[in-house]
Amino acid sequence: MITRKLYDVDSHISVFEASVISCAPANEKKHAGMTRIELDQTAFFAEGGGQACDRGYLEQVTADPAAALRYQVVDVQEENEHIYHYVTGLSPINLKAGEPLRGAIDWDYRFDHMQQHSGEHILSGICYAWKGYHNVGFHLGEEITTIDFDGPLTEEELLLLEEKTNQVIWKNEPVRIFYPSAEELEKMDYRSKKELSGDVRIVQMGDTDLCACCAPHVMKTGEVGVVKIVHHMNYKGGVRLSIVCGNRALKDYVFKDRTIRSIAADLSTKPEKVAAILKKQQAEIEERKLFLQTLSQELIRYRLEEMEKQAAEDGGSVVFCEKMLDQTAARSLLNRLCETIDGYGVCLILKEGQPESYAYLSASKKRDCRLISEALKNRFGARGGGSAAMTQGSVSGSFEEIRKALKKAISEG
Ligand SMILES: [Zn+2]
Repeated sequence: MITRKLYDVDSHISVFEASVISCAPANEKKHAGMTRIELDQTAFFAEGGGQACDRGYLEQVTADPAAALRYQVVDVQEENEHIYHYVTGLSPINLKAGEPLRGAIDWDYRFDHMQQHSGEHILSGICYAWKGYHNVGFHLGEEITTIDFDGPLTEEELLLLEEKTNQVIWKNEPVRIFYPSAEELEKMDYRSKKELSGDVRIVQMGDTDLCACCAPHVMKTGEVGVVKIVHHMNYKGGVRLSIVCGNRALKDYVFKDRTIRSIAADLSTKPEKVAAILKKQQAEIEERKLFLQTLSQELIRYRLEEMEKQAAEDGGSVVFCEKMLDQTAARSLLNRLCETIDGYGVCLILKEGQPESYAYLSASKKRDCRLISEALKNRFGARGGGSAAMTQGSVSGSFEEIRKALKKAISEG
């Protein structure tokens, strides 16, 4: 006896009674420790077609409801039209064939899935009728539903597709489930992911779409509420859409509304002005970056002259401290300095907000810079290293003491 699917008749049945057909410990590793229960009928949808199964519970029917044992349904699988409920509970669970059980599905979870799934039908049906594209991939996730079409869509076309889908939803058209005869099916232009045999279950969304599908759907298109395409990307020559429907669309709206209001408050403006203000700020930042680069080049030019003079007075090497230059600018300054001096150029860049803490860079064309790193390591516990031409690292201490120690090391080395 195959399992009677109650959602096939009425997708809004959430509580039902049924008789046990079989009850046995589950064998597979995936269901280790669980019990497998088959019933004569069920409202639980089994996993399939890119959609997760229903969850909920089964419980004993007893005179005293408080004494009824309840089992959580954590997985539902269909094999050859037999539906198996995998339940957890105190083992061993020994239910006899014919024993009555009451079942309840998690209705919020089911309704959410029906909203997403039915929204996908309408959108895919419109896309097929409009562009001739097939839905070649579908996944109903816990947060997002993805749909793959085998043809491209422009931004404008996506907007139009979304609009057309919502218009069908708001028309609140009836959703019809039926099993056509082989002759009727032959003449029918319906969407299907695979070649089907036997009885084919057709889901009709008003006048919009005919699609072969086994899952539970809403009874009228209006139940979907709204469809929003939240993301799209090119995928295998076509397009992959991410959509949210109904309650998920509302949650998405609430999140985005809060986000933009918070940004608007930070910018002391209205949400509708945020984009223009951020664009203007971005342009200003770019302008300032260019200005700072020019200033930095000017500063390097002045410092270069100064350091060349100091090196000439001090035996060909110079140790100096910088507050205004970043590492890239300091490196550029040292490279240019080493073109004209014979000894070492050592630059200590003061770390912001950390007195007596520096990033250091040393460079030389004719001498070995590892002498500088070694001296800083031995005397001040500095970290760092590099090649003969350039070393870098970090060091802490008084600048005057560091300079004195380096001068000594350079004269001795
Ligand atoms: Zn469906």
